[in-house]
Amino acid sequence: MAQIDDLPPLRDVIRRHGLSAKKSLGQNFLLDLNLTARIARAAEPLENITVVEIGPGPGGLTRALLALGARRVVAVERDERALAALAEIAARYPGRLDVVAGDALDVDVRVHLGPERARVVANLPYNIATALLVDWLTAEPWPPWYDDLVLMFQREVAERIVARPGGKNYGRLAVLAGWRAEARILFDVAPSAFVPPPKVTSSVVRLTPRPVPLPCDSAALQRITEAAFGQRRKMLRQSLKSLGVDTGALLEAAGIAPTARAEEIPVEGFVTLARLYAARAPAATA
Ligand code: SAM
Repeated sequence: MAQIDDLPPLRDVIRRHGLSAKKSLGQNFLLDLNLTARIARAAEPLENITVVEIGPGPGGLTRALLALGARRVVAVERDERALAALAEIAARYPGRLDVVAGDALDVDVRVHLGPERARVVANLPYNIATALLVDWLTAEPWPPWYDDLVLMFQREVAERIVARPGGKNYGRLAVLAGWRAEARILFDVAPSAFVPPPKVTSSVVRLTPRPVPLPCDSAALQRITEAAFGQRRKMLRQSLKSLGVDTGALLEAAGIAPTARAEEIPVEGFVTLARLYAARAPAATA
């Protein structure tokens, strides 16, 4: 594939800016611009789209997103060492890259977005990947401020996101993701593609928000799934006891057998339970 831009190779960028990878920041960099272009292509079409990127690091994915036509990239990076490298990319693409220095868990990216549609595309720092995803899936109002999430996770997390009832991967994350989005794994990326290589394979996942998910309070859904999957081997009549409501009556009203276990219940069943629970214990879900 032809070079995606005329900026220096990422290895040079990393050397010049002293960007040795820090484990504490989940830094596993992608240096192959063909691969970052493949991830950016998974998020196409990018024209007229503002992309929110979490953790641009030396900017391999950022460069691919800009080269492939994203109108603007808003990139949130916690590592100050990366800011000078990102400034070089911003200079190459005037007016199209805004870098927000800070912790993605604290930054409200909506403040930095214009009226155009936003899409989140990121090779996420693995230590906060699930927390960020839960934040995005529980966004209010719904439909959310983004039209798609194209995200790299550890393969094991990706499998938990797309899991269906009946298996060991099915849990809180699958219920939340299934409730509000359609999620699919697009492709895997081998450890050898990263510097330094992580221990496990990674996967790119695309989550498309459902325009009209089943109505349900996300706090109630999280309480229910926390209780149900916290003791996943137990029958629901037992595992839901910590909710402090009449578990038998709750399950009966939801049409769920009290002997059922969490991993057998489809997303719709949890949504029904959450709705009934919120009606019975509004204070507990606020
Ligand atoms: N996007 C780059 C790539 O693909 O090569 C880097 C990806 S690396 C897996 C994760 C990036 O997230 C690093 O640049 C790291 O500094 C950044 N990061 C880690 N924790 C962060 C946080 N709390 N907020 C924002 N960025 C963070």
